[in-house]
Amino acid sequence: MIELIKKLPKAELHLHIEGSLEPELMFRLAKKNNIAIPYNDIEDVRRAYNFTNLQTFLDIYYAGANVLITKDDFYDLTWEYILKCVEDNVVHTEIFFDPQTHTARGVEFATVITGIKEALADAKEKYGITSCIIMCFLRHLSQEEAFETLEQAMAFKDDIIGVGLDSSELGNPPAKFKEVFKKAKEAGFKLVAHAGEEADFSYIYEALDLLQINRIDHGVQSIKSAALMQRLKDEQMPLTVCPNSNIELKVFESYKQHNIKELLDYGLNVSVNSDDPAYFKGYMNQNFINICNHLPLTENDIVTLVKNSFRSSFIDNELKEKYLAQVDLALR
Ligand SMILES: [Zn+2]
Repeated sequence: MIELIKKLPKAELHLHIEGSLEPELMFRLAKKNNIAIPYNDIEDVRRAYNFTNLQTFLDIYYAGANVLITKDDFYDLTWEYILKCVEDNVVHTEIFFDPQTHTARGVEFATVITGIKEALADAKEKYGITSCIIMCFLRHLSQEEAFETLEQAMAFKDDIIGVGLDSSELGNPPAKFKEVFKKAKEAGFKLVAHAGEEADFSYIYEALDLLQINRIDHGVQSIKSAALMQRLKDEQMPLTVCPNSNIELKVFESYKQHNIKELLDYGLNVSVNSDDPAYFKGYMNQNFINICNHLPLTENDIVTLVKNSFRSSFIDNELKEKYLAQVDLALR
């Protein structure tokens, strides 16, 4: 099974680039940029990655992002993630970034996106890896601030395929961002949103009905509503599930309790993703390996999960067909 996981070409649809900041790079950039970080050494950092819920993670995650200052920093961050894609045979990736985490510290929007974009262009050139960029609004901030961020993004419209919604879910329902998502849709952006990770399934209904999203990030709480499960199945709405993340943030007690197999068996369009891999102990393949080690997943299930991610991506149909054919070829 592990051999199968490794040899299949894969797509990643739920990856926060700031969440791929490894402690080694954090230390290097902290030193270079003269930014204080609350750790003595790399072991100290890893010890701190012991979360009890989403918020305890976010506090550490935002502190880590402080070391990112220059265009080259964002390039290096993205490039290190690309090297993990090469290792894990991820051939297409749609990455999230959080502009507000950086603009709030005085780092220009252009600095962030240019560094990411240049690394992705080199990834295409050197490894043939294709990619899209999705900009997320921080949901703990106001809709007004999201509008300002959308305004800034318009100058980079050609580089950004979609907008998303992330950060502290509880108490910040999708409804809070209804108007800014409407405007983003009118501007031609694809729409995604984190929903039903920690908060209940009503957030998923809001994301679908009020934000009109194209994909749900996480969505694992949908299992609590039979009506919602049926709807997600009928619409084949993509759910970008992140197993390691769900375990590290205690959404499920253990891999054995994770519901990805149930969602899949019900006929939902679920895929496997790494979310914030530097913080959640593993990139794409490790997520697959962990669920395979603890759940009765079949080889067919693995192939379905992999194909779902390509089908649910924002690439054109021609490229989708090309990648799906590569999956079939790898299976022979
Ligand atoms: Zn996420």
